[in-house]
Amino acid sequence: MNLRSAEPFWPFHTPVLTSYPALREDLRAEVIVVGSGITGALAAYELVKAGCKVVMISKTRPAAESTSATTALLQYEIDVPLRELIDKVGPDHASRSYLLCHDSIDQLDKVHKAVGATKVFHKRKSLLLAARKKDVDDLALEYELRRDIGIQVRWLNDQDMKERWGLDNAAAIYSAQAAETDAYLLTQKILQWCTARGMLVYDHAEVTAIQETQREVTLTTDRHYTLRAKHVVMATGYEGTKWLDRNVARLHSTYAIISKPVPRAQLWRDRCLIWDTGKPYLYLRTTNDDRIIIGGRDETWQSGHKRDVLIRRKSQELCRDFQKKFPHIDFHIDYEWAGTFGETADGLPYIGPAKPRSRVLYSLGYGGNGITFSQIGAVILRDIITGQRNKDAKIFTFDRMNYRA
Ligand SMILES: Cc1cc2nc3c(=O)[nH]c(=O)nc-3n(C[C@H](O)[C@H](O)[C@H](O)COP(=O)(O)OP(=O)(O)OC[C@H]3O[C@@H](n4cnc5c(N)ncnc54)[C@H](O)[C@@H]3O)c2cc1C
Repeated sequence: MNLRSAEPFWPFHTPVLTSYPALREDLRAEVIVVGSGITGALAAYELVKAGCKVVMISKTRPAAESTSATTALLQYEIDVPLRELIDKVGPDHASRSYLLCHDSIDQLDKVHKAVGATKVFHKRKSLLLAARKKDVDDLALEYELRRDIGIQVRWLNDQDMKERWGLDNAAAIYSAQAAETDAYLLTQKILQWCTARGMLVYDHAEVTAIQETQREVTLTTDRHYTLRAKHVVMATGYEGTKWLDRNVARLHSTYAIISKPVPRAQLWRDRCLIWDTGKPYLYLRTTNDDRIIIGGRDETWQSGHKRDVLIRRKSQELCRDFQKKFPHIDFHIDYEWAGTFGETADGLPYIGPAKPRSRVLYSLGYGGNGITFSQIGAVILRDIITGQRNKDAKIFTFDRMNYRA
C-alpha cells in the first residue's frame, strides 16, 4: 500500500543517521520486531531496556513510511471525545485510555532524553476550539469529564479567546499536557540507542508469511530468508491489517502543509497545539525552527493516486483555513504532502495477540494520535513478552468492537 505522497517534509529536512544492512541470512532471535517506524522503535526501546535480545526487520528504511509523513502532535486527547468514548467502551476503559495517553507523553519525554535526541521534543499546551457555536455545550461537558478524572484543563470563553489568542471561537478547552516532536529523527535516534546495546536492524526484508507453533514463530521474507523467534512484534503500521481476519480500521487520506520559518513574534501565544471540534478537524503546531504545520481536510481513502491528485487543492484550502484564523501571519507553503491513516470504531488502538495465546503481538496505533498509542503499545507488549501482568492490556484487545468486514 502507498502510505504517503512523494515529498513529506521530514525526510527532506532531516538527515538519515545510519544506513542499516539488508537481510542476507536466516536468523534466530528472542524477539523480532517487524517494522522500523516510530511504533517499532518504541517497542524495541522498551524490550532492549528490559534485557531482551531483539532483531528488527523492515521492508523499508527506518521511519520511511507513515512516520516520515506524520505531523507529530503528541496529545492525550483521543479522536473520540471522552464523552463519546464512555458510551462506546464504558467509563473505566474510557477514562483509563485518556489517562494512559496523558502519561505516555511524559514517557516519550523520558525516552527522547534517554536516547539523546536533543531538540526533537518540546512540551506544549493544547487548545481545543469549538469550531461552531453549537459545539459549545458538548465541549463544556467534555471539559467537566476530563477535569473530573484529574486532567489539568481550563475552560476558556469567547472573551478569553479574543483577548489571549485573537481568535473568534466561542469557547475552548486549554490543556496543560501536550508535546510536539520530529518523529522521523526520534525514531532514528531510538534505533541508534538500541543498536548500541546489541539490537540488530535489517531493512529491505519484507515478511511474506508467518507460521506459528506453541513454542516459536517463523517468518519468511520476500527473499526467502527464514527468521525464528519466541515472540514477534508486528509494528507494521496501516499495512498490519493484512495479517488479520477482521476489519479493525477504516482508512482516510489526510493532508498537511508546512510554512517557511515565520518571525517568532508573529506566532500565537504559547505556541500551543491547536485543533478544533470540526469533522474532520483542523490542527496546527509550530516547529523548533519557527515553521507552522497545518493538517486536516481528510477524505475517505480510495487509492494513493486519488489521494495525491488532491494535494494542491487541499493545501490551498488548509492555507485559507489558517489565514482566516491568523490573517497577520505571513504563511508561505514550503512543503505539502498527503498520507493515509486508519481510524478504529472506538478510536482506540489494537495492542496484543490477534488470537488467544498467539506469540505474534500487534501494536496498531491507529488514529490521529497514533504516536502516543505507540508508546502505550510498547509498554504493554514489553510486559506480555517479559511475563509481567499489565492491567491495561485488556482495554486494547482484538476481541472488542470491530468494523463489519
Ligand atoms: C499526515 C499524517 C499526520 C499524522 N499526524 C499525527 C499526529 O499529529 N500525531 C500522531 O500521534 N500521529 C499522527 N499520525 C499518525 C502517525 O503518523 C502514525 O500513527 C505513525 O507514524 C505510525 O507509525 P508506525 O511505526 O506504526 O507505522 P509506519 O511508520 O508506517 O511504519 C511501518 C513499518 O512497517 C514496515 N512494514 C510494513 N509491512 C511490512 C512487512 N510485511 N514486512 C516488513 N516490514 C513491513 C514498514 O517498512 C515500516 O518500517 C499522522 C499520520 C499521517 C499520515
